[in-house]
Amino acid sequence: MNELKKMVVDVAEDNALGEAYQTYTLLKEEIRAWREERGSFWLEKLNPADIPPYFPLGNLPETAIFELWLKLNRVMGEDTSEFILRETWLNLKVGRSIVDVELLSTLRLALSGIAQLARSSIILENRNDFVGRQLEPNGINGYEGTSCPVCGEKATLSVLTPPQGKRFLHCSLCGQEWPMMRVGCIRCGWKEASEQNYLYTKDYPGIDLVTCEACGQYFKEFDLRQLTVEDLVWEDMKTLPLNYAAEQWLSEHAHLEKIQ
Ligand SMILES: [Zn+2]
Ligand SMILES: [Zn+2]
Repeated sequence: MNELKKMVVDVAEDNALGEAYQTYTLLKEEIRAWREERGSFWLEKLNPADIPPYFPLGNLPETAIFELWLKLNRVMGEDTSEFILRETWLNLKVGRSIVDVELLSTLRLALSGIAQLARSSIILENRNDFVGRQLEPNGINGYEGTSCPVCGEKATLSVLTPPQGKRFLHCSLCGQEWPMMRVGCIRCGWKEASEQNYLYTKDYPGIDLVTCEACGQYFKEFDLRQLTVEDLVWEDMKTLPLNYAAEQWLSEHAHLEKIQ
């Protein structure tokens, strides 16, 4: 059996949470309203690929992304020109960094809204009845990739579910969950527990920060046997101090020469 290496970590506090949550719920509500109004129109225009990922982000209808994104920017009081939107979206697609943090966060939310709509069109089971079943509609048994089978995003969140602690990966963009073996790095796919360190703090019970010495990355693991989480994306955002702690820890401990 692979032993998990557990250790305690110190975490700084974050004071701007209340305001961030208000903005987040406001934008989520706007996405919900958009979906109600425009969802069925766009659903008809979506075509899944034959194999996962079924809806890679680059294949989602741009007009739908811009439509929702503009709406979200207006809620934030920003009247961004279409030129800037196109440029920002292009930069994101080719992996360039985006300086305007606010524009990037509304873009992520707009993409998330469209990806969730796309996911709903292919009726993938939720995690509770997903186990041991095929990933519909094209049936790939035992999918254990580290990228989302629906939208292709790299997984960054791991959850352990009751009652036995079965592990799933959670896509923070489209919300899809899929099973994963119990140990190993969800970022690089390394299967040996010896390369991972589980950091935890009493301020965040039920959440482990897992750092990987094989790839120098980290991820959060939520143990849903110990805590109830309604919205994992928000839970991830509100535990941002843990990200800083992980980065700090990695800069002090990781053997970066192991990166391949
Ligand atoms: Zn996804
Ligand atoms: Zn790794």
